[in-house]
Amino acid sequence: MNEIKIFSPATVANVSCGFDVLGFCLDSVGDEMVIRKIEKKGIYISHVEGFDLPYEAEKNVAGVSALAMYEAIDVDFGFEIEIYKNIKPGSGIGSSAASAVGSVFGMNELIGRPFNNTQLTEFAIKGEALASKCEHADNLAPALFGGFTLVKSVAPLKILELPTPSDLCATIIHPQIEIKTSESRGLLPNEVPLNDAITQWANLGSLVHALHTSDFDLMKSALTDVVVEPHRSKLIPLFNEVKEASLNAGALGAGISGSGPSIFTLSKGLEQANIVKEAMQSIYADSDIDFDIHVSKINTKGIKIIN
Ligand code: ADP
Repeated sequence: MNEIKIFSPATVANVSCGFDVLGFCLDSVGDEMVIRKIEKKGIYISHVEGFDLPYEAEKNVAGVSALAMYEAIDVDFGFEIEIYKNIKPGSGIGSSAASAVGSVFGMNELIGRPFNNTQLTEFAIKGEALASKCEHADNLAPALFGGFTLVKSVAPLKILELPTPSDLCATIIHPQIEIKTSESRGLLPNEVPLNDAITQWANLGSLVHALHTSDFDLMKSALTDVVVEPHRSKLIPLFNEVKEASLNAGALGAGISGSGPSIFTLSKGLEQANIVKEAMQSIYADSDIDFDIHVSKINTKGIKIIN
């Protein structure tokens, strides 16, 4: 096999109480990429479609993660990467992560899968660091493994795969404003009051338990963020209104997706997720802010080959 076409999914990181550690994978939103073996040694981005992104491998997250993997293998050929981007960069649903995992997943398939998903995440972290200026894996892990993942530690990298209740669905609204991950990180407090920390880790533990037991009532009470959301939500117009409308419409929880500006909600069942969609979009429809909205099952398989 000399060429492979893949679907690299969008992801939601943080998931309210799991800042920097928790994430889940979306089903209906993602990029496509083609990875091809070529005679010339090295890593080359040969085509980018959808959004304006760098062609220099060192400046594109797909190229940086590919270069990290290329250094670790001994081959007498190179790789060419085509990126068909559907996930808008800076939207907060793992645009950079989809590219970072896509290149290394595709290369790994073409050379007979010498690396496991955790090792692929290690390479992808190098690419993700180009976009967010720090090494984190909370979008990368769900994109590669699928479902819900928890990054126990980055060094050494330890990823836990969490169960996904079968009828859990997400609704994601993306107001068309840009927030850079680096800008959004700058708003974070250096210190967290102990009472808030206690609330946060109680909620994260409860959410993990709720995923294991499909306890939707517990999930509903655990999907709260008292540490990051109060600061970051200021960057997202009508955040509180969208959140309130979605909870009133029956969502289990709502919060900032990654570093924003997208807002995610979780619902029990596709029908409920669509009711929540109506409520969320009605808020932005009354404003002059353009938006995209997606309803998606949780993708339990993660990145996949499509040819
Ligand atoms: P997101 O959370 O949606 O991934 P980030 O702010 O983390 O958004 O990353 C987007 C930044 O990464 C943009 O500045 C973009 O130009 C840069 N970037 C470089 N290569 C890529 C790529 N292949 N895909 C997406 N973003 C990329």
